[in-house]
Amino acid sequence: MVKLYNSLTKQKEEVTSDENKVVKMYSCGPTVYSYPHIGNMRAYLFMDNIRRVLKYNGYKLDGVMNITDVGHLTSDADEGEDKMLVASQREHKTPWEIAKFYTDIFMNDTKLLNIDLPEHIVPATSVIEEMIKFVQNLVEKGYAYETSKGIYFDIEKFKDYGRLSGMDINEKLAGARIDVDEEKHSPYDFVLWVKAPKEHIMQWDSPWGKGYPGWHIECSVIGDKFLGEHIDIHTGGVDHKPVHHENEIAQSNCFYGHKVVNMWMHIEFLQIDNGKMSKSLNNIYTIKDLIDKGYTPEDFRYFYFMAHYAKQQNFTFDALDMAKNTLKSLKNLLKEHKNGTAKVDTAIYENEFLESINDDLNMPKAVATVLRMLKEERSQDIYKTFEKFNQVLGLNLDEDDIPQEIKDKAELRWNAKKNKDFVTADNLRAELLNLGYEIKDTKDGYDILKK
Ligand code: AMP
Ligand code: ZN
Repeated sequence: MVKLYNSLTKQKEEVTSDENKVVKMYSCGPTVYSYPHIGNMRAYLFMDNIRRVLKYNGYKLDGVMNITDVGHLTSDADEGEDKMLVASQREHKTPWEIAKFYTDIFMNDTKLLNIDLPEHIVPATSVIEEMIKFVQNLVEKGYAYETSKGIYFDIEKFKDYGRLSGMDINEKLAGARIDVDEEKHSPYDFVLWVKAPKEHIMQWDSPWGKGYPGWHIECSVIGDKFLGEHIDIHTGGVDHKPVHHENEIAQSNCFYGHKVVNMWMHIEFLQIDNGKMSKSLNNIYTIKDLIDKGYTPEDFRYFYFMAHYAKQQNFTFDALDMAKNTLKSLKNLLKEHKNGTAKVDTAIYENEFLESINDDLNMPKAVATVLRMLKEERSQDIYKTFEKFNQVLGLNLDEDDIPQEIKDKAELRWNAKKNKDFVTADNLRAELLNLGYEIKDTKDGYDILKK
């Protein structure tokens, strides 16, 4: 039984699915007007983690992720500049070129990290018609109203507003500053559709003239189009809880007249050197930055497993080194187990691993079990069990990153040894060790281990 923490009910709950064990899952996707950083990628490793754990338990996934390529302003509260416009001006490209460029980079990062992607990946600009219909429906039902600037959601019509983030909206309203927009019924009403000034870069025809969607509407509409009126799990970063997800709940629940999402799950932030990532501190790293510094994307994948998703994780290069070294010794041990001859009963490890992953994705505990298991006598039973665990871990076991030159030297040494030329064999072994590779003889050959 997979139990996950539901941010809405604030307790661990069993995952729901349909009668065919299909879990419908929605993940808030990336904004595509700048480089995704490793904090963003933690959010998608989290999505990957849930998907793989569910599959390990025999579930099937029907997953959706949006790509935010329109409508995102520099503030969550419908204020500030259009971020796509800022990027267009900075890079002298059209919004469409910007979106394509950064979407490609994001998709490539997910590939490098071996992230199990959702079945549907949907750009917001591909569902403009659907968004307009959805907004029209909310207006007809009395949940939304028109002003000279756009169509707004009337939060006072939705009594549950604020439940996810635990805010008391009446209290908040009492203390609110007077909103500059006097046409709005309440300062926290948020925009569903914006009437575009003539010069706005992205705009579409609508019953309210030319305009473009607000940010939050895309997730309700894409969820509705691809998953329908019941969604089992919805994921995103904690920053989305108080605004984006409150607004999404309001839109979707009012559209259908009932609760749409069963379980809300949030990943805590990746911190850098115990603080926020920021441009001014020059501490925003991308996957490419890590590669340039000599790490593999898989080192970062392993780093993700070292902290529980509901806790902030602190990124330092020391911690990444630790992940890298652990991963290296894990792979070296695995090679030895591949040819191991001992008989080992792995049932207790299998139970422990399953218990940990099913207890709200306790990955630090799950990998501790894996490392303990690998210390057992060398055994193919362990290798096979690891292969099973690897459906969740998603590490690359087939990789052969040993350079040809090293393989050639190892083969020379093997031949020298077979010919009883032990001096040459020992010299070659020492030479290889100097180059960072250790030769371990096995029953009928040898393994090359990276030190
Ligand atoms: P964005 O492209 O800004 O919409 O972010 C994509 C995803 O990354 C969202 O789910 C954010 O909540 C999440 N996110 C942003 N910064 C971090 C961080 N430092 N750590 C973890 N997740 C983050
Ligand atoms: Zn969203």
